[in-house]
Amino acid sequence: MTHSLNTPASPKASLSLPADRRLDDRSRRARIEPMAVLPLGDSLYEIESGAEHTYLVDMDAARCTCPDHVFRDARCKHIRRIAIEITEGRVPPPGQRTVVCHDCEASIFVDEDEPGPFYCEDHTLYPGDTVLDRETNDRLTVVDVSERRADSVRIQSAGCSVADYGTNENYDPDVPVVGAVYPHARVARNGVVPDSLKVYVFPRTRLQKVSVSSSASETISGSRYRYRNRSETESESQPRSRSRSRTERTEPSAQS
Ligand SMILES: [Zn+2]
Ligand SMILES: [Zn+2]
Repeated sequence: MTHSLNTPASPKASLSLPADRRLDDRSRRARIEPMAVLPLGDSLYEIESGAEHTYLVDMDAARCTCPDHVFRDARCKHIRRIAIEITEGRVPPPGQRTVVCHDCEASIFVDEDEPGPFYCEDHTLYPGDTVLDRETNDRLTVVDVSERRADSVRIQSAGCSVADYGTNENYDPDVPVVGAVYPHARVARNGVVPDSLKVYVFPRTRLQKVSVSSSASETISGSRYRYRNRSETESESQPRSRSRSRTERTEPSAQS
């Protein structure tokens, strides 16, 4: 699978030379010659050199289509240049591609087969985070982020999926679901939720992260973990809607 249409080339420019060590000729030219790198996916990169030549490089195999590599079997300046750009974060490493955060313009690298929506570190949700419900402007506290998608999680009391629930119709059905509680219930970072607490389930894109960096409880560092490693929420409550009437839809398209 290639994603070259989504992933931009690095700007055609020369890179600075490290001051602290001597480089051989190929490594020096890999840096100072203007080259643009276009990731094609599957560890393939297209590289345009200063002489308007374009070569194809497979980084996993460390092979290039240029004469220096083909005829001299050298680790050519193109392979070296791409390795440098990967190390410096200018282009994604093999197996990853560049995407844009759903909630801001930040570019991030994700696995090639990872489904969206994508979020930068600032907008990634963790248990304990405060979020804004875009439909009601309510603030809630996240208790869990699941990998299960809104069209596959059923709201028992409503007889439909999270995606088909009335107030969620503006959101994509194939986004992950997030479990959240209304405030005044403090949720520990380890995700422990009191039995009495009612957890509402939302499509991920309906919620927007609110930064509460001034609050001491929001600045615990070192204990953050990716939601992917978390077990899924067992709660199947429905999202609350204050402003809209409840429409319990019974389309046959509702998935179970
Ligand atoms: Zn080459
Ligand atoms: Zn972001």
